[in-house]
Amino acid sequence: MAEIIDGRAVADEVVQTVKRLTGELVNARSIIPGLAVVIVGEDPASQVYVSSKSRKAKECGFHSVQHTLPADTTEEQLVAIIGDLNADPAIHGILVQLPLPAHIDSGRIIQTIAPEKDVDGFHFVNVGKLGAGELDTAFVPCTPSGSMLLIERVRGKDLSGLNAVVVGRSNIVGKPMANLLLAANCTVTIAHSRTKDLPALARTADILVAAVGRPEMIRGDWVKPGATVIDVGINRIPAPEKGEGKSRLVGDVAFAEAEKAAGAITPVPGGVGPMTIALLMANTLVSAYRAAGLERPKF
Ligand code: NAP
Repeated sequence: MAEIIDGRAVADEVVQTVKRLTGELVNARSIIPGLAVVIVGEDPASQVYVSSKSRKAKECGFHSVQHTLPADTTEEQLVAIIGDLNADPAIHGILVQLPLPAHIDSGRIIQTIAPEKDVDGFHFVNVGKLGAGELDTAFVPCTPSGSMLLIERVRGKDLSGLNAVVVGRSNIVGKPMANLLLAANCTVTIAHSRTKDLPALARTADILVAAVGRPEMIRGDWVKPGATVIDVGINRIPAPEKGEGKSRLVGDVAFAEAEKAAGAITPVPGGVGPMTIALLMANTLVSAYRAAGLERPKF
C-alpha cells in the first residue's frame, strides 16, 4: 500500500516557518508582511476561501486587509482599488478572489496587479518568468508550488530521469505544474481532454498529477506501480450513505484503487488543498523579504 502524503502536516510546517521568519523580519527591520484580499460579490464558496486566507494571514502575524466589494462594483472601481494597493508600501501581496462577476474582465484585472505583489502568480510577468525558469524571481501559483513541495518530500528536489504526466492544462494548475516539474528535470507530458489513450499515457508516469475536476476519473490500473500520485482535484459528490442530501469531497483519482499501486499518494481532503493557502502565506512573506532587499526565504 502507498505512503499517504500528509498535506496538512507539510502545510503546517510551512506556516510555522512563515511565522518564524515573519517574527525575524519584524524584529530586524520593523516590516510586517501585508496581504490584501479583494472579493467582489457574495459567492458563498469564495467568501469561505477569502475568510480562511485572511484568518491564516493573521495567524502568521501579517498585516491582513480584506476588501469586500458589492456585486455591482464596476471594473474601473476595482482597478482603482488595486492601484491604491499597488502603491501602498504596507501591502506586499494582493490577491483578487476569482471568479469575478461576469461584467468584470478578470484577465484585465489580474494584469493591473503589480507583478512584484502578485502572490497568486497569475500576472503575465510571473507566468513568463516561470516559463523561462526564473524561479528565484517569479511568483509561482500556490497550488502547483504546494504540490511540488509534496513531491519533493517523497522524491527529493532533483527529479532527473523521471517521467511526469500532468493531466489538465489550466493556467492556474496544469501549465505551471508542468513548468515546475520541467525545472526539476523531469520529462514532462501534459494531457488534456483531447489526449488519446490517457490510461496508457498515465501508466508511463513516475509522477502523476491530476488536475481535471472530474471525480475519481483516474483509476487504479492507470497508475504505474510505485508512482507518486498528486491529486489536485476537489469534487463534491452526493453521499446518500451519510444521510439524505449529504455530500463528500473526492479527488480526480479513485483513491482506494490507486493507493494499491502507487508508491505515495495524496488524499482528498488533506493532501494538496491545505498546501495552497500555506504557499500563499509563503509567497507574501517572500514578497516582504524582497521589498526589504533581503534574500528570498526558500521553502
Ligand atoms: P480547469 O480549468 O477546469 O481545467 C481542467 C483541465 O482538465 C482542462 O485542461 C481540461 O482539458 C482537462 N480535462 C477535462 N476533462 C478531461 C478528460 N476527460 N481527460 C483529460 N483531461 C480532461 O480546472 P483547474 O482550475 O485546473 O482545476 C482542476 C481541479 O483542481 C478542480 O477539481 C479544482 O477544483 C481543483 N483545484 C484545487 C485546488 C486546491 O487548492 N487543491 C486549486 C485549484 C484547483 P481541456 O483544456 O482540453 O478542456
